Amino acid sequence: MSHLLQELVTRQAELRPDQTALVFKQEKLSYGELEESSNRLARLLREAGCRKGDRIAFLIPKTPAAIVTILGILKADCVYVPLDTSSPAARLEKIIDACEPRFVIASETGASLLDQLMASEPRRLKTLIGSMGAGKIEGNNIQVQFSRNDLGDYSGEPLDYQNTESDAAHILFTSGSTGVPKGVVITHANVTNFIEWAVRYFDTRPSDRISSHPPLHFDLSTYDIYGTLSSGAQLHIVPTELNLVPHKLAEFIRTSELTQWFSVPSVLNFMAKADVVKQGDFPALERLLWCGEVFPTPPLIYWMQRLPHVSFTNLYGPTEATIASSYYTVPECPKDELTQIPIGTACQGEALLVLDEQLQPVAPGEIGDLYISGVGLSPGYWLDPEKTDSVFIQRPGTADPADRIYKTGDLAKIVEDGLFYYLGRADSQIKSRGYRIELGEIETALNALNMTEECAIVAIDTEGFEGAAICCAFVPLKDVEVTPSSLRMAMNKALPSYMMPSRWMHFDRLPKNANGKIDRKVLRERFQSEVGSAAQSKL
Ligand code: AMP
Repeated sequence: MSHLLQELVTRQAELRPDQTALVFKQEKLSYGELEESSNRLARLLREAGCRKGDRIAFLIPKTPAAIVTILGILKADCVYVPLDTSSPAARLEKIIDACEPRFVIASETGASLLDQLMASEPRRLKTLIGSMGAGKIEGNNIQVQFSRNDLGDYSGEPLDYQNTESDAAHILFTSGSTGVPKGVVITHANVTNFIEWAVRYFDTRPSDRISSHPPLHFDLSTYDIYGTLSSGAQLHIVPTELNLVPHKLAEFIRTSELTQWFSVPSVLNFMAKADVVKQGDFPALERLLWCGEVFPTPPLIYWMQRLPHVSFTNLYGPTEATIASSYYTVPECPKDELTQIPIGTACQGEALLVLDEQLQPVAPGEIGDLYISGVGLSPGYWLDPEKTDSVFIQRPGTADPADRIYKTGDLAKIVEDGLFYYLGRADSQIKSRGYRIELGEIETALNALNMTEECAIVAIDTEGFEGAAICCAFVPLKDVEVTPSSLRMAMNKALPSYMMPSRWMHFDRLPKNANGKIDRKVLRERFQSEVGSAAQSKL
């Protein structure tokens, strides 16, 4: 077993250099090409002064160039930070400020965003810029230090590494309740441990053709990348634009002859609602996996009835515990739409614990807080020991501070047969269209606009594929004309579109509870009951 993520890929490049590693639209990259290009990039980065532990952010859509960039950064002993190319500059600024990258590597698609990013704050100007796209990066505030054409000047031979498996491989920024995204630090060992288990459990082989669907700033994407490239299989990058067209997603699975599909459930739900899966469709498909949120049973039944030749697995886990911590392969198509699918049992090297407020195990069948321990646990949040210590705590009853458990914020129960069930969140974190969102982050952005006297963001469950719908209740500032569309326009500058409320309600005063706090329960009920009524504007 290799210990660094890039070594998993190198081993396959030595075994099968001519085998296709990456497929994206008409573009293909072999294992040999991937290996050589990333070696060249690593040398270039080292020569440019990058040292072990330096952060290197990248603003490149999911393409072969992005995967070469990731491996090049790892091979330079550095830590990669994927930036969401569809995020507004204001949010990316917070991430750049937090992780202080030595380089930002971009492609032409991210150029105007990068230009906006570099326009303000002298601190960020220290960041160097490289270009890995085929086209040119231009902008008034951008000075490009190197481009993809320079790679040819560097040797493609293997390098020696200083990193060890306990060093950070990447930092993934997730929504933060106080308005600042949280950087989850993930080590090489965190990922390799999961990959080792998953490749064995799913029996991933060089003949596999595997989807790469989630965006690179979402931790699920690391399973696709390293699970595929450590098995000598082909990674088929799903073009983002297909996400809006369910029949094209189905066509992609068909024509790429995928053997494995992995995504958040909302994508599968969307495809089921559009009824794009035929009986016995996708004959090459062997496995369908989901993670990140509940896959409602009715669309699961839709998929299982149509694809009796496919195995279906529910993976559960937060970014802080790396990709997934538990799994459940559904043994047969549920007969009843009300059947609840468990999150199953712990993956190798991990444990799930359901504890009460005193950190004591609850009895089987009782609801408690879900904690995770084991090999997937992140060392913590980037430069935020306080936040880290609030959720990564020492296991009760042990003297070893390294024996930690992570409080997921999820509610769960374990039943007599040892299976765990997910029962919702204990806080205001939600999943909408598969994205992890802290409602507090939206509220902070809304308050910062100075357009409202009072505002609150709540979420309600919908039957639709979006999962939770984000609802905004607001009291406009006196003498200011505030409408849902003016709020939306202003919020667009601070938040990515997946965080935008889809339901709005105007109030003269927000409802309060006995303590004088905004009564969010009442607000949720109002939104729930007034869905579709005239009092509510839906944009
Ligand atoms: P993320 O860090 O984006 O992976 O989000 C982690 C959170 O997503 C978990 O704490 C759960 O609330 C939710 N989650 C992840 N996987 C599942 C699943 N299979 N079923 C239900 N909820 C899930």
